[in-house]
Parts: sequence; C-alpha cells; structure tokens
Amino acid sequence: MRITEVECYRVAVPGPNPPFVWRDGLPGSWPDGEGAVLRICTDEGAEGVAFAARKGAIIENVVDRLLRQELIGEDPLNREWLWHRVWELDRIEEMPLYLLGLVDVALWDLAAKAAGLPVWQLLGGYRTSIPAQASTVTFSTVEEYLDVADQVRELGYTSIKLHAWGDWRRDADLCVRLREHVGDDFPLAYDGSAGFDLVDAIRLGHVLSEADYLWYEEPMREFSVTAHQWLAQKVSVPLLVAETSDGAHMNTADFIAAGAATGGVRTSTELRGGFTGAMRTAHLADAYRLRAEVHGPIIPHQHLCMAIPNTTYYESLITSNPVRREDCVDAAGLVHAPTAPGVGLPAGLDYPAALKQHI
Ligand SMILES: [Mg+2]
Repeated sequence: MRITEVECYRVAVPGPNPPFVWRDGLPGSWPDGEGAVLRICTDEGAEGVAFAARKGAIIENVVDRLLRQELIGEDPLNREWLWHRVWELDRIEEMPLYLLGLVDVALWDLAAKAAGLPVWQLLGGYRTSIPAQASTVTFSTVEEYLDVADQVRELGYTSIKLHAWGDWRRDADLCVRLREHVGDDFPLAYDGSAGFDLVDAIRLGHVLSEADYLWYEEPMREFSVTAHQWLAQKVSVPLLVAETSDGAHMNTADFIAAGAATGGVRTSTELRGGFTGAMRTAHLADAYRLRAEVHGPIIPHQHLCMAIPNTTYYESLITSNPVRREDCVDAAGLVHAPTAPGVGLPAGLDYPAALKQHI
C-alpha cells in the first residue's frame, strides 16, 4: 500500500458559546476561526483523516511546503518511519507541537479503518470505560466555583480539577475552601497553567499539600527541568509535569530522571507527537511506575484513555455555568470506548462535507 494523495483543507470552526476565560494573562476561549482537516489517501482506497480545531493556515502551509512530499509514495503502515521523518524535519522547521502529531493521527486512523477497529484496540485495549475528571475553566468567585462543584457532582463526575486565577493567594484560598466544601474523600486537583515563578509555586504547593490535592499540574513554564526538581523537593503534593514542553518522550524522560514527576506526567496526541509519541510517553512513565495522565478533551484522547494502563481520568472541560456535561460523559461520570473504526471526528464536523468547505 502506498500513499498517493495528501490533502489539507482549512475549515471554519466556531468558538465556544458562551466564551470562557483562563487565568489572568492568558487569552480566553478562541473566537470563531479556522481549523484544518488532513486527509491521507492510498492506492488501495484506504484513507486516514486528522482534525485540528485551530491554526488551519499554519497547518496548511507546513503540509504544502514540507509534509506532502515526504508522504507521497510511502507505505502508510510504516508509522514509525514517518514519525521519525516528521521529527527530523522539525529540527530546522521547529514545527508547532500540535502539528508534529497530526500526520501520525491520520496514519493511525487509516490503519485502524483498514483493520475495521477503533484506534484504541489497534493500540492495544486496556479498558472500555474510564472516569471523567471535571476540569474547570476560570470562574469569577469562590462562591461560583463551589456552586459549579455542586452541579458537577450532581451530574455524576467523581473528581474535579481547578483552573483558577493565577494569583497564588487567591488560588490557595479557593483550593482550601473547595476542599472544605466537598469533604476529605473527594479527589481534587489543581492546574496552574504555567502561571507562577518558583517562589509562588512553592507557596501554593504547601497549601495544596496541606489540603491533600491529588496533583499539582503545570505550575511553571516547562523550560527549566531544574526548577521543577527544586519544587518537587520542597512540596509534598505530587507534581504532574511535562504537558506543554517540546521533545515528546525524550523531554519527559528528563523530568522523570530529575525526580520532578512525583505525580506523573502528561501525555497527549496534541503535544507529544500523535498516538505514537503519546504511547511512548505513557510506556516510559510506566517503567518508573508513574502515571501518564491524558491531557485535554478531544476524541483521540478517549482512545488513549482506553489503551494506557497507567492513567486515571479523561479530562472533561467544564466551560459554563450552568454546567453542561460533555456529551461523551454518562450519568455515572464515565466515558466509554469509541466503537467506530478509526479515530472519529468531532460531532458537527460533517466529513466529507468539511473537505469541500475549502476556505
Ligand atoms: Mg493541563
């Protein structure tokens, strides 16, 4: 089987309604914009598709300039070879992280469709359902967070992760009050979205340790492994690290070796180089008896959750108040394994109509 055609289309993607915000300093939810659909076709009729919700123009540019010529004529089942080719091209191009994995996701989609299996089973199925963790956006007041927490629990979620304001004192107060509100037995986690320097990360870390948080995620920008090592030496709350750093499993390995990944590492198709990079990262963590928690609510990540043994939750984003439960989460707070062959595209993205909607 050989790749004969590589198409990349920009598609219109509406922003979330209602819009939402993250911590101070970060842009909020994206406005109406352009994503991209990447489609890889073969001489035997098999095809694979991958979708990115944003940055369609950048993706189209890199596919047109670099990736199409690499792929045409190659065997699409040689995913390892093609993963390494993309990595080689990255050296000078410095591709955006979300682009590194897009070809790989399309190739897994192609192989899984050809096999008549959902991707998680081709990866190696481990489970058929997993609890969803309610991952909040940033709300206005402590009182609003407590109200959202009550709604989330009524909707079946069995764990909450906070994204808050990025002010360590204010966030610490929220974390303590939420712990008091939900009681000692309800698992809580906190995500700093890389908002702190080391001093404030330590201060907040002490509070999270005291309040028995499950993990303390991405407290600082992930450029300095040493800063995370020092933080891990200072606070007892487990650190969940290596989410947005470049370098897939190779970079993750240094966080682990430094003793900074006390609560595990993040993995994802988006930021760790597709399914291939995400599974490498998960297996690396497993070797050290660490968890590889799957970052972010997209369909490829539902597949990862079913194939990675050392993971705990599917990250389900709570973007509004009143709270709306994500469609893939059931009343018991569980996400079930996708059943259709391949990866599957988001609801509302009408494929192949989307491919015709060339902007
Ligand atoms: Mg995160």
